[in-house]
Amino acid sequence: MKIAVIGGGAAGLMAAATIVEADSEAEVFLIEKNEELGKKVIISGGGRCNLTTGFDDIKQILTKYPRGGKFLTKAMYAFPPKAVRNWFEAHGVTVKIEGDMRAFPVSDDGQDVVGVFEKSFKKGNVKVMINSAVEEIKKDKKGFSIKIKKRLKPLTVDKVILTTGGQAYRQTGSTGDGYTFAVELGHSITPLAPSLSAFHTKESWTADVAGLSFKKVELNIGKRTTVGPVMFTHKGVTGPAVFAMSSLIAFEELSTTNPILLTMDIFPDLKIDKLNAKLSLLLHNNPKKNLSSVLSLLVPKSLAMIVCDEVKIDFAKNAGQVSKKEVEVMVEWMKKTPLHIIARSAGEEFVTAGGVDLNEINPSTMESKKCPGLYLAGEILDIDGFTGGFNLQSAWATGRLAGTNLVLSHSTQS
Ligand SMILES: Cc1cc2nc3c(=O)[nH]c(=O)nc-3n(C[C@H](O)[C@H](O)[C@H](O)COP(=O)(O)OP(=O)(O)OC[C@H]3O[C@@H](n4cnc5c(N)ncnc54)[C@H](O)[C@@H]3O)c2cc1C
Repeated sequence: MKIAVIGGGAAGLMAAATIVEADSEAEVFLIEKNEELGKKVIISGGGRCNLTTGFDDIKQILTKYPRGGKFLTKAMYAFPPKAVRNWFEAHGVTVKIEGDMRAFPVSDDGQDVVGVFEKSFKKGNVKVMINSAVEEIKKDKKGFSIKIKKRLKPLTVDKVILTTGGQAYRQTGSTGDGYTFAVELGHSITPLAPSLSAFHTKESWTADVAGLSFKKVELNIGKRTTVGPVMFTHKGVTGPAVFAMSSLIAFEELSTTNPILLTMDIFPDLKIDKLNAKLSLLLHNNPKKNLSSVLSLLVPKSLAMIVCDEVKIDFAKNAGQVSKKEVEVMVEWMKKTPLHIIARSAGEEFVTAGGVDLNEINPSTMESKKCPGLYLAGEILDIDGFTGGFNLQSAWATGRLAGTNLVLSHSTQS
């Protein structure tokens, strides 16, 4: 059996490795347009590659996918995070789980993760074709014919696994080519949008505290809430809680004329009356100090100045002269800091929301319902998760399920 895996990212690497491990007779062509495999895997997690999560409760894990969680159930039970970690360990990459439950190779080097596959392909029957951009995929009665740039003759194979990814971080090779191939093979693509991105805000004061971060902040947009680390930037806010919120509002329009109001609570574990009592006591105990110095006992000094500025209370005022009403106003601002989002950080999103319509894929096998013999896996599908290793986890899991079932379908046919 001849198989083409198109796209040498996380899903394609896992699909190809699964096939050669399950069927030593299979002839696999791993076709990648870049000059190397796994470019995005290597830069993921800031180069450290947050390859999966340390959480093991699958029901809880599936809630981390704003789109595609239900569809992922079969793939996730078949190849859960624990199995992924064990798989890498068995292939020579020791995995550690950090305090926030993100899993990384102990070496903190994404190259080691890709290295596992490169080694496995040297041993198995995988022909790695780098610098090979697929331009067209055609299906006929015999199988598939794949046109590759600068090659005169198309490659003919029995089955195809399409793993060309989304269109985020296009410099890594994921330029959305697979959507066109999928449409030509009978699929529909749901609306696409950037997800896991930083926000730009109308408020310019964030520039004055750029680099300042909090480990636990609650963000709210209407009824949507996310909790986690946040950092201020020159243009707005970033960090895991912001990324998660960007995922929840991936399809909402943002503009300077029509911004979305986000409120931020930097004291999520302190009820408003408790924070009020705390600030009142600090002011009462330090009547001769100025307001900004007393506020600095609660928040970093740079932010204390901004609180005063934003609520228009003189920061130089003596603490003893601050009124009850003024305390209320400051507390309200800190518990519900208003930030008007005007844009997403362009071109820097981590994933694409939307993709090949999941109704057209069999979730137990990853085979297309529109085009038998075609399997799809990874970010090309309408699946995306929060940060924390969930996107690579879904790429490994769907890639593995596609590879396993492709081999199974062949053995039942022959
Ligand atoms: C900066 C950054 C950091 C990230 N960090 C993390 C993280 O730490 N943890 C996590 O879980 N997720 C992370 N993600 C998301 C995660 O990396 C992706 O969701 C995941 O890699 C998707 O895997 P994939 O195999 O579906 O697609 P990709 O990794 O995008 O692979 C697709 C491959 O197909 C190739 N290709 C495309 N078109 C063609 C064509 N026409 N012919 C041949 N080849 C083609 C591309 O060159 C590419 O190599 C990060 C993303 C980014 C951008």
